[in-house]
Amino acid sequence: MKRIVTSALLTLFAASSFACQSNKIQLLNDFPNATSDALMTNCVIDEQNKRITVKLLPENKPINNSPWYAFQLISEKPQEITLTLTVEDGTHRYHPKVSHDGESWQAVDYQVVDDKMNVKLNIGPKTTWIAGQELITNQDYVDWGNELSQFEFIDHKVIGKSVKGKPIYQIITNQPAVKQWLVVLGRQHPPEVTGAMALFPFVDTLLGNSELARYFRQQYNIVIVPNMNPDGVELGFWRHNANGVDLNRDWNKFKQPEVIAVDKLLTELVARGDKVAMAVDFHSTHKDIFYTMPNDYGVQQPYLVNNWLNKLDSQYPDFNVIQKPGNNPQMGVFKQYVADKFDVHAITYEMGDNTDRSFIDKLAKDAANTLMQTMLKNNEKLH
Ligand SMILES: [Zn+2]
Repeated sequence: MKRIVTSALLTLFAASSFACQSNKIQLLNDFPNATSDALMTNCVIDEQNKRITVKLLPENKPINNSPWYAFQLISEKPQEITLTLTVEDGTHRYHPKVSHDGESWQAVDYQVVDDKMNVKLNIGPKTTWIAGQELITNQDYVDWGNELSQFEFIDHKVIGKSVKGKPIYQIITNQPAVKQWLVVLGRQHPPEVTGAMALFPFVDTLLGNSELARYFRQQYNIVIVPNMNPDGVELGFWRHNANGVDLNRDWNKFKQPEVIAVDKLLTELVARGDKVAMAVDFHSTHKDIFYTMPNDYGVQQPYLVNNWLNKLDSQYPDFNVIQKPGNNPQMGVFKQYVADKFDVHAITYEMGDNTDRSFIDKLAKDAANTLMQTMLKNNEKLH
C-alpha cells in the first residue's frame, strides 16, 4: 500500500510545475495569483534544517511597497518547516495566511527578524497554500458576474482587453430609460484583496432586492468594473499592470488599455446624453480610510460624499469613518479623473489590509445602503 502511495506522489511531483524543489519537498507556483517565476529568486529548500527560503521581487521598479506572495508547499512526509521570505528593496506588508483548499484561509503566526519573515508551517503530501491575503482570482470575478447576469436587468460583458489580452469585464444594469450612472471600480492594484472583499457585498447590496435598492435603480443605472488588472492578479504582481505601470496613475495619460477601456465606456455614456453621477473605487492600505475630493473643489452636489460618509459614520459609534479630502491634479488617480471629467464626486474606498473580514462585509453593505439613501435624497433636491 505504501508503495502505491509513494508512486502516486512521484507522479504528482513529475506532473507539477514547481518553482523549486528538493528530494522530498516542493514549492509550487502553478496556480492563479501565485508569485510567478519572475517575481522570486534565491529559492532554497534545506531539508536538513527544515527551512525554505525565498526572496520576493517586484514586477519592476520603482514601485509602492506591497510585496505579494502566494505559494503551495508539498512534502512527501508530514513535517514542520520554517518558510523564510525576504523582500528585495522593500519591507513585509502582508501577514501570512494558510489554506488547505485555496478557499478557506487562516492567519498564522509569524516573526519578522531584520528583513526576514519566518513562518512555521506543517506541510505534508496534501497541498498547503500560503499567501499574503486570501486569494480572489480572475475566475472568481467571472463566476460572480455570470451569476449576477442571470437577473434580467443585469448584463455581464467584456469592455476591453488587458495588456496580455485578458478580458476586462463590466457588470451593468441595462435600463435605457434611466440616465444617471453610479460607477464602481475595483482591483487596479492586484494585492489589495480587502478592497475586493468590500466591493462584492457593496455591489450585491446595490443590485439586491431590498425596497431601497429597487427604488434606487429606478433612478440610477450602475456599472461595475470589478477587476481592472487581470494580468497583475493572475501573475501575482505587487502593484502594476503588465506594462509595469500603476493603473491608478494613468487616468491623466490614458496610455494603458485597462484605463482606456473604462474611459471609453464612460465617455460613450455621456456622449449619448447620460450622466455619470458618482464613482467609488475600491482599494486597500494599512488602515480603513476614504479618500475624497474636497467639498470646495467645484463639483456638482458638493456635500454628497460628506453627507454619505457622515451618515455611515453615525451608524458606527465605535468606528471612525475617516474622510480624507485631497486634490492632486497631476497624479492621474481615478477619483480625480471623475471629478475633472464629469464634474461629480468620486472616492477611493480603502480597507485596511488587516481589517476584520466580517467587519469589511458589514461596513460595505451599510456603505451601499447609505450611499443609495444619500443619492436619492440629493436627486429629490434637484427636481
Ligand atoms: Zn490601491
